[in-house]
Amino acid sequence: MQSEIKKLAKKASVLEPAEVERKKLTQLVADYVENFLSHLPASQIFEADLINLKSLHALGVEEKPKNIDEIIHLIKDHVIDPGLNLSAPGFLGYIPGGALFSAALGDFIAAATNRYAGIHFVSPGATRLENILVEWLCQLLGYSKQAGGYLASGGSLANFTAIVAARETFALSSKDFHRAVVYTSSQVHHSMIKGLRIAGLKETIIRYIPVDENYCVKPELLLQNIQQDKKNKLIPWLIIGNLGTTNTGSVDPSKQLAEIASSHHLWLHMDAAYGGFFILCDTLRPLFQGIEKADSITIDPHKGLFMPFGLGALLMKDKHHLLKTYHYDEIDYIPNYQFEYESSPASMSPELSRHFRGLRLWLPLKLYGVAPFRAALQEKLLLTQYFYEALTKMSGIEIACRPQLSVVAFRFHPKAGNINEFNTRLAEAIKIQGKIFFSTTYLNKQLYLRMACLNFRTHLDTIQEALLVLKETINTLSKL
Ligand SMILES: *Cc1c(COP(=O)(O)O)cnc(C)c1O
Repeated sequence: MQSEIKKLAKKASVLEPAEVERKKLTQLVADYVENFLSHLPASQIFEADLINLKSLHALGVEEKPKNIDEIIHLIKDHVIDPGLNLSAPGFLGYIPGGALFSAALGDFIAAATNRYAGIHFVSPGATRLENILVEWLCQLLGYSKQAGGYLASGGSLANFTAIVAARETFALSSKDFHRAVVYTSSQVHHSMIKGLRIAGLKETIIRYIPVDENYCVKPELLLQNIQQDKKNKLIPWLIIGNLGTTNTGSVDPSKQLAEIASSHHLWLHMDAAYGGFFILCDTLRPLFQGIEKADSITIDPHKGLFMPFGLGALLMKDKHHLLKTYHYDEIDYIPNYQFEYESSPASMSPELSRHFRGLRLWLPLKLYGVAPFRAALQEKLLLTQYFYEALTKMSGIEIACRPQLSVVAFRFHPKAGNINEFNTRLAEAIKIQGKIFFSTTYLNKQLYLRMACLNFRTHLDTIQEALLVLKETINTLSKL
């Protein structure tokens, strides 16, 4: 038996490379990343997916090994290159990503050391770091010491986690679901509606309250709906406000929503996944007035703090609602779990074994301090204003509304023909040129292009180029 064990160990030994081999692997991977980053400013915004049967086969998992050079080629050609280049400065669609290089270094350390960020006594350092970040976020948004939260994989999971905590806090049971009412606007992010569904709440009544000309919810209509529903013996339960809608970056009035929620005893959740970090910009603070009164807030560092995808956050005004919903205190095989359970992300979320995702955020914040983040966000706001003002001077352009944050939705009215069709072609023609990417959305059934400025790599030259490309493409298409 012993010789069999040793034979197997030898076979498996490649899984723990020696130092020389490790350094070689690290260097080759770093070289690839370096190459990617240094070519980024000039690289195309979009690459066609050229996968064929042969390369698809090469990507498959096999018994036999491949060497690292070949693997890096596969990654480059068939994994990283196809599709939209979300890291490039000209990517102005959806909510742009970007990803700070230093965040990747944080991930590298977190993955290589594999600290366990689920339970406090196992890795007190890792959980403490995440809790410090959560505290910082809570402070930023004006929450008191009662508040808490956790770092989620993204806004969708944070929103879902909030819905379940709100359901439990209100002790809604299945017999109430069809009478429980959720209030939001037509501009709500679909992850909230999906969250309700996967929380078992698809029978709840959803009232889409009309928005004003800036795509912000109308509080007086919200109030009327709640009063009417109360009269009709329904259970007004949850208000979902948007702090930065995805479509137009519009900001619902937190203060008024909070007043309504508090006087009628509803849960207020603010979805600030996209817009939340603009609170760092002093000029925008008035827009955030009252957000500290929301029962829960979703905010995504993988949007407004330029982190790689996979980092959202849920904050709750009273962390005990989160603990009551998510803490599980009888785990046979973890006797120490009770100890300081309040400091364990596993007690505040659906997750147990989880990625130590705090390190990627903490490392850049420590390395640079907060000031450059604030400056980058303020720069994005001004770039958006610049873009908006230039659009107002272009003939034939209709703008959905004045931008409150860093999204502008607009469309071109052609002299003849279908407007939606023209704008669909416009977006596609711009994408194919490979320098700039705008996404599209529907507002009142009309198709608009969206310019969303949130990549830290996007600067004035890119926005000027975006305007030029837009003008030229409109001219070209208009002549066809
Ligand atoms: C992006 C976004 C979400 C979803 O967050 P993910 O991190 O993509 O899961 C939710 N709400 C708003 C307003 C968003 O912009």
